[in-house]
Amino acid sequence: MNAAVPRIDLASLDRRGCEELVTGMGFKGFHGRNLFKWLHKHGVVEYAAMTDLPKALRDQLYAVARVCLPRPVATQPDADGTRKWVLELADGQRVETVAIPDGDRITLCVSSQVGCALDCPFCATARQGFNRNLTVGEIIGQVWHATRALGAVPRNVVLMGMGEPLANFDAVVTATGIMQDDLAYMLSRHRVTLSTSGIVPNIYRLREVSEVSLAVSLHAADNALRDRLVPINRKYPLEMLLPACRAFVAGDRRRRITWEYVMIEGVNDDLAQADRLIRLLEGIPSKLNLIPFNAFPGARFRASSPERVEAFRRRVLRSGMIATTRKTRGGEIAAACGQLVGRVRDRSRRAVRGRAVVAAGLP
Ligand code: SAH
Repeated sequence: MNAAVPRIDLASLDRRGCEELVTGMGFKGFHGRNLFKWLHKHGVVEYAAMTDLPKALRDQLYAVARVCLPRPVATQPDADGTRKWVLELADGQRVETVAIPDGDRITLCVSSQVGCALDCPFCATARQGFNRNLTVGEIIGQVWHATRALGAVPRNVVLMGMGEPLANFDAVVTATGIMQDDLAYMLSRHRVTLSTSGIVPNIYRLREVSEVSLAVSLHAADNALRDRLVPINRKYPLEMLLPACRAFVAGDRRRRITWEYVMIEGVNDDLAQADRLIRLLEGIPSKLNLIPFNAFPGARFRASSPERVEAFRRRVLRSGMIATTRKTRGGEIAAACGQLVGRVRDRSRRAVRGRAVVAAGLP
């Protein structure tokens, strides 16, 4: 390869990007749309098979562009039907993607970073440290790959895998746009959910530029406890997070926030916390999703008992808020929430608590 020729990654371009690339090469915009469709709707990455593109365009693409998708290196099916794929990136690092069936519907759980810088003490990804953001192509490539492997587009996509999606804002917004594009995966607003630990400025930005649904990892209803469980709370405490969430749903009756709440024995699972949570979220269109803690090697916590979880849920239900308990899936293949590890060359300085957040380039 001639090092002087810039290699454009077609997998990282949305519909507009493909149009602009193609018109910049002197061809009509609709060829760009067709290129985009070949890549995502048909899953075709060989230029030779893109038969409705002019030969001269294909030759130019061959010279300057490539399709850079993550490569599956292992697949693990669990007894409950959950499948985990380990995907290798061009630099040899690995991330994980999980397909979770519910009847004949599949939810795909997608990663957004190699590792994570946020250091939540109950999450295995945090233990791996942080290396870098995924590119658009590496994020959408997980959907590309799952669609081919499953023979159909997943019904839902959740950005709940490795990483903090709002710390990789631009790539995540572009990738979710591709998920929702009619010429690609055609997922509606309710079928793409982004989960954040609460990067407040980017919650405001997200509302302006994206159509995704929002889930927020709450895990505690007061700052003292949330500072410990979700350390980004020290930078963006509840009194900043909640107004951002209110603003996210404001003016659109169809929007609501899904609050995720990991249930950890003796830490955040008593009814006083439930009452605090009810008061905290009053007036925000909300749904609470309780996640029994999933253990991993070296974890310092234990899961709340099913009775505890159910008592907490009932208390919240009484307030009129919707509250569900997430079924734990994929536990046998370390594919459940908080168990994804991949292969990460840590570039954060774990030992220096708090510094890691800087490594992620947070606003
Ligand atoms: N960084 C984003 C995306 C991760 S989503 C976020 O924090 O929201 C994964 C969800 O699983 C989050 O709500 C996370 O807090 C939760 N989680 C992490 N580790 C877990 C564990 N060990 N057991 C149960 N849930 C966990």
